[in-house]
This record gives sequence, C-alpha cells and structure tokens, in this order.
Amino acid sequence: MIEIDGSTGEGGGQVLRTSLALSLCTGQAVRFQNIRARRPKPGLMRQHLACVQAAAAVSHGARVEGAELGSQTLVFEPGEVRAGEHHFHIGSAGSCTLVLQTVLPALMTAVGESQLTLSGGTHNPMAPPFHFLERSFAPLLQKLGVGLELKLMRHGFYPAGGGRFTARIAPTAHLTPVDVLSRGERVDAFAECLSPGIPGRVAWAELSLLGERMNWPRDKLLQGTARQDEGPGNALMATLAYTELTELFTSFGEKGRPAEQVALEAVRAVQDYLRSDGALGEHLTDQWMLPLALAVHATGRPAAFSCTMLSLHARTQIETITVFLPVRFSTERIGNSWRVGVSMAE
Ligand code: ATP
Repeated sequence: MIEIDGSTGEGGGQVLRTSLALSLCTGQAVRFQNIRARRPKPGLMRQHLACVQAAAAVSHGARVEGAELGSQTLVFEPGEVRAGEHHFHIGSAGSCTLVLQTVLPALMTAVGESQLTLSGGTHNPMAPPFHFLERSFAPLLQKLGVGLELKLMRHGFYPAGGGRFTARIAPTAHLTPVDVLSRGERVDAFAECLSPGIPGRVAWAELSLLGERMNWPRDKLLQGTARQDEGPGNALMATLAYTELTELFTSFGEKGRPAEQVALEAVRAVQDYLRSDGALGEHLTDQWMLPLALAVHATGRPAAFSCTMLSLHARTQIETITVFLPVRFSTERIGNSWRVGVSMAE
C-alpha cells in the first residue's frame, strides 16, 4: 500500500486528487494521512469527498475507508476502471472541474468511451474554470491522443453553485508523449466577462480597464454568455491563442471587491505570461504533468515542455507523481522560463 502524507508541499486538495487519479491508473492502493493539513480547514471538504466518491464510482469493486467530511485519513483500494456513463453531483458550489481532474486520467486510457455529467461550481476561484479546460487543457490532451469534448449546460459560481457540464472522453490505448516547447505564433487575444446577476456596468468597467492596459481593441472585449438566472457571479477571462496552445487567465469578482482590482489581477496574469517565453502558464503546468507522465510511462519515451514558472503546486505534483510512477522530472531555468523534462527513472 502506498502511503501519502497530505501535508506534503502545497498540502492541499491536489495531493489527494492526483493520488486518487494515479491509484486508479496504476491499480495501487493508497493510504492517506494529514489530508489537506496545510489548509485552514483541514480534511475532506464536500468537493474533496465528491472526488473520492467519483474515483470509487469509476472503479468497480473499489474499497474506501474514511470517506467522511472533515476526515484527515483515507484508504482507497481501487478496483477495475469502468468507462461508461457517470453523473457526479457535488451538492455545493465546490468545483466540478476538479472532480473531472480526478477521474479523467483513468478514463482516458480505459476501454471504451465515457460520458460524464458533472454538477456544482464551473467557475470557482482556486480551480480550473470550465473555459480553461475547454480552451487550454483539452486541446493539449488531444496532442497525447485523447479526445475530451466538453459542453457547458449551465454556469455555476460560488456560493450558489448549480452549474453543469458534460464531458465525453474518447480514450486511447496508445498515449503518445509530445514536446510542447514553444507557444508558436499568436493568433488571437480577447477578454470576456461573465457577470450574470450583477450590473452590466461592473462587467464593462473590468473589460475596459483590461482593454486599456493591454491595448486590446473594443471588439476583443466581450460580454460573456451567462444567463441572468445563473448568477450572481463574476469571472473576467483573458484568452491568448497561439498556434501551439491557448492560455486562459481568470480573475474573480466578489461582493465588496472593486472592479478595478478584478481587472488588474487579470492584467497582471497576462503580463506575467507575456514577459516569459515559456509555453505553459502557471496552472496549465501543474495540470499537464500528470497526463504527460502517464504518456511517458506508457511508451518509455521522454518528453519535455517549457513553462513560465514552477509553482509550489507544480513541485508538489512532481513529488506525488513520482511516488506512483517510475518516472523522473528534470527542471531547468532557462532565461525567463523553465524547461521541464519527463523520462523513465533509471
Ligand atoms: P484546497 O481547498 O485544499 O486549497 P483545492 O482542492 O481547492 O485545495 P488546490 O490544491 O488548491 O485545490 O488545487 C487547485 C487546482 O486548480 C490546481 O491544479 C490549479 O492549477 C488549478 N487552478 C487554480 N486556479 C486556476 C485558474 N485560475 N485557472 C486554471 N486552473 C486553476
């Protein structure tokens, strides 16, 4: 049984999700201690519990101990991964994109397609927004040979939740490692503001400030498509599309937070990205490591990517992945970016 100390590195929910994902992929049982020990409210919160339940649901005959709210210990013994139709409902505004992150690695190499329906939060702070998965993550996954088709049915924001999306996963038996070392040519840059249930002038204040600071023309500043009854919610998203990949940066508004702050946070994220030559931004980096490591492990062939920074999340991913898979990560700072290599461990 693999022992995972949840206080490792970032010490948050990602250690749990990555370990569950890799337990499903490798068939290795795992025992957790100190789950989310570095968070103000440690242990399993509703969205983490939803991840454990989702992992058990796609794994026929899985055995789970300690799956309770607040629990800091958990045993997960996976069964056989079952592709097919699954519905995952968080029952709060907890992020359902993080539930997808937990089961996707196993389902993308399972036998047969899967059709998932996920409900909860779709645009949450501290989690990949739906549009990030759709525009940034899914196309990258396609490079490994995996089809991930996402459809947003309803936006869900904190604190009301109530969002829903579907994910069709077309797996591959031949994951192919790829290098992503450059962004390629820039083909588009635009911003959208999702702001259901809040005054239109707030969205426009955010968009116009971002447009002014980035020098983006007015036709690249878009009011998002969320319906009024999906709010209240406020997510300002800036998309940079290149020939090799697309990056998306999101800043969230909340009650009492000035529109100016929301806009300037997005501006900072875009400017930080533009200052570096790295291909993957902060969040894509930690999320790309797991599928890429699986592809390297499946073929024995090394692969590499460049990125703008290595966050504590990314470093924690490396620590967790290398407990489950016999792969090795190398990291090298090159000018204003990083080069990350993944190869089989000797
Ligand atoms: P905890 O509640 O324990 O902090 P958590 O379950 O919310 O944890 P984290 O461990 O913080 O999760 O992991 C969050 C994940 O969401 C990471 O993979 C991170 O890259 C991703 N993420 C956070 N913000 C964004 C964003 N704006 N765009 C894309 N991905 C994001």
